[in-house]
Amino acid sequence: MIIDGKQIAQTIRGELREQIAALRAEGKRAPKLAVVLVGHNPASETYVANKLKACAEVGIEAERISYDEYVTEQTLLNEIHRLNNDDSIDGFIVQLPLPAHINELAILSAIDYRKDVDGLTPENVGRTVQGLPSIVSATPRGIRELLARYHIATEGKHVVVIGRSNIVGKPIAMLLMQRPYLSLPGMSAASLGDATVTVCHSKTQDLASICRTADIIIVAAGSPNLVTASMVKPGATVIDVGINRIDDPASPRGYRLVGDVDFEHVAPIAGFITPVPGGVGPMTIVSLLQNTLQAYKQRN
Ligand code: NAD
Repeated sequence: MIIDGKQIAQTIRGELREQIAALRAEGKRAPKLAVVLVGHNPASETYVANKLKACAEVGIEAERISYDEYVTEQTLLNEIHRLNNDDSIDGFIVQLPLPAHINELAILSAIDYRKDVDGLTPENVGRTVQGLPSIVSATPRGIRELLARYHIATEGKHVVVIGRSNIVGKPIAMLLMQRPYLSLPGMSAASLGDATVTVCHSKTQDLASICRTADIIIVAAGSPNLVTASMVKPGATVIDVGINRIDDPASPRGYRLVGDVDFEHVAPIAGFITPVPGGVGPMTIVSLLQNTLQAYKQRN
């Protein structure tokens, strides 16, 4: 069965719109997100525009704060300090990547974790590891939501995560191995956890054999066709996070997007599988909206 991320994302946007409308009907103010953008990277401009549009669609107020690429680290730190203390702002993000002269970790570390709706501050990551209420970063939150909405239980299952990045591999491994009662109350995906998790990476030996023992494979490697049919146990769930551009003269753009899984041959044997595009990708912005509402509720 194909996991339809686009459909789930649309459903969640509808749920958020209703929840926020209900808050407004009670006379409460709208949640508010601020997005800090440095420079004019075209991809970042597009991401930010999409985030602001998605906020407007569900009734989250959103503000864009722009700086040119020569901004100093101190000016950005001052802005973060201001946002941390601005009571009208529930959450904010600093769009990455930042110019090379700015220390990304210093910037992220300055964000108040309660307003860190990208879930990337060391404090939020640490809280996630310790099973404390935290804001989970977008992609792992989206993956967890997809599993929950398709009733794919993880308890006692062997989950193989391929990739160990701070934004996908490490946090999803951590979330799925945790005891679920330690997850944040009130989240639809809170019952997920209790899995036996194996994390694989570029130095892992015999990836194929490890994958064959998996009930659930989550791959975030950035390598087309890394997961082939012979690596997948019949009936296993396959979550493909990878986004790769490959040349395609037949496409008007000259390229197309593929994931890390040989979808054509894996789909017939997998129990559940996410396509690329249309699987994990559409969940990312929705997770940011969910995180903003979560931050708003925790502050009020
Ligand atoms: P990354 O690019 O920082 O690192 C890739 C990871 O994969 C590393 O940990 C590496 O050890 C591992 N890896 C690479 N080749 C491997 C191999 N042959 N065998 C085993 N492990 C291997 O990771 P990232 O930032 O998590 O991104 C991974 C992919 O996911 C990229 O294609 C990225 O574009 C995509 N991505 C998608 C979304 C989304 O919303 N769908 C979000 C984030 C990242």
